[in-house]
Amino acid sequence: MTDSPPESPLNLCRVGIGHDRHRLVAGTGPLVIGGIEIPFDGHLLGHSDADVLLHALTDAILGALGRGDIGEWFPDTAAENKGRDSKEMLRVVLEKTRDTPFRIINVDATLFAEAPKFSPYKQPIRDSIASLLGIAPTRVNVKAKTGEKVGPIGRREAIDSEVVVLLELLSS
Ligand SMILES: [Zn+2]
Repeated sequence: MTDSPPESPLNLCRVGIGHDRHRLVAGTGPLVIGGIEIPFDGHLLGHSDADVLLHALTDAILGALGRGDIGEWFPDTAAENKGRDSKEMLRVVLEKTRDTPFRIINVDATLFAEAPKFSPYKQPIRDSIASLLGIAPTRVNVKAKTGEKVGPIGRREAIDSEVVVLLELLSS
């Protein structure tokens, strides 16, 4: 038996998944999703800016690289992370994982929220994520689902996000 993998382009690919949830509360926010502020009479609670989508994205990238999770990188017990901009946390992860050079093949993100309606914001969120990652918006997809009025999503108690990312490892 040999553990050397057969020659295949897939040997250079890594997939990662991220899931996050933040509690939705009434009151002006801002509601920050995917790095942009969305007008809404509610916002997400969190130690940082509670950007549920960027947290799931960051976890997906860390997962693909086998580098742990966002909670290990940015503990919610650390004062420096209070109110922290999630765009900046993502930039830190991208900067500190340069020892494993990679290119993002695609990002597929889903938001789970009864409200607000995300249809007007899907493209701005795509553009925002693409800009943060330095890739074309066509490589980023953003979907939105309601909770069908049941469960914590449907009762507007929380917004969830799931993100899958596919990376291609580059030779350094
Ligand atoms: Zn989070």
